[in-house]
Amino acid sequence: MKKKMFLRFPRDKVMNPVAYRLVKDFGLIINIFSARITAEDGGHMGIEVEGKEETIKEAIAYLKKSGVDVDDLEKHIKIDAKKCTDCGACVSVCPASAFSADKQLKINLETDKCIACGQCVDACPFRALSMV
Ligand code: SF4
Ligand code: SF4
Repeated sequence: MKKKMFLRFPRDKVMNPVAYRLVKDFGLIINIFSARITAEDGGHMGIEVEGKEETIKEAIAYLKKSGVDVDDLEKHIKIDAKKCTDCGACVSVCPASAFSADKQLKINLETDKCIACGQCVDACPFRALSMV
């Protein structure tokens, strides 16, 4: 199975090589969507892991025990086409590059890239975005 997760690292946990451990100790395949981590501030990482369901559960337990916050990313973003004006404000804030503009400058959303960080919901001036 595949599972998307959003990991938040407190400042004192940034040196913990969790991605390496997920691969080496749990045998998971990892796809990193986004990452922003600094030694000063901590940070976050959006990942999709692939492996056996039980192994993924064990890996999540390991992450939490290691002091990493783990958010389940079953939710994703939906655009209300009636409200969207194609202003583009959501494009620049999305850390996963889920939004793009076509030749006519119409905004498109690839929901499978979304890591459910919620930043675009706050950024949209027309309240056209919601988490479902
Ligand atoms: S910020 Fe809102 S109105 Fe602007 S393009 Fe994105 S969804 Fe549409
Ligand atoms: S919630 Fe919005 S900003 Fe965050 S990854 Fe999904 S589409 Fe991008």
